[in-house]
Amino acid sequence: MLETHEECLAYLEKIRWNGTPICPYCGFNKATRYKNEQRYRCNGCFTSYSVTVGTLFHKTHVDLRKWFQAILLLCKLDRDISVRKLSRELQVNRATAALMVDRILNVSPEQAEILRTIIHAIEQVS
Ligand SMILES: [Zn+2]
Repeated sequence: MLETHEECLAYLEKIRWNGTPICPYCGFNKATRYKNEQRYRCNGCFTSYSVTVGTLFHKTHVDLRKWFQAILLLCKLDRDISVRKLSRELQVNRATAALMVDRILNVSPEQAEILRTIIHAIEQVS
């Protein structure tokens, strides 16, 4: 668990949706899953989406495993980690690391709860 991007996505779906995808655009709870992909097409507004829409992970093209690692580092292991060090540890470029730090440190209260759950899960598996 949580060893691939797909497993992390599935985990995020579980904690955000608990098995029922909710359209982030119109709130409808019926969707068709794309074949071989963790994406959905809303049966209400016909927009396609994945679980990352509306979260800090949206539109970054960063492997979710790296996001999860960054969360663990920033929120738990090394709160004062520099952007430079984080970029080295995660093997992402500095701009990406800076964006991750910014998003993680400025999450909404609802998403802070998601981060706490993720940290807890990582600690369970490691
Ligand atoms: Zn919709």
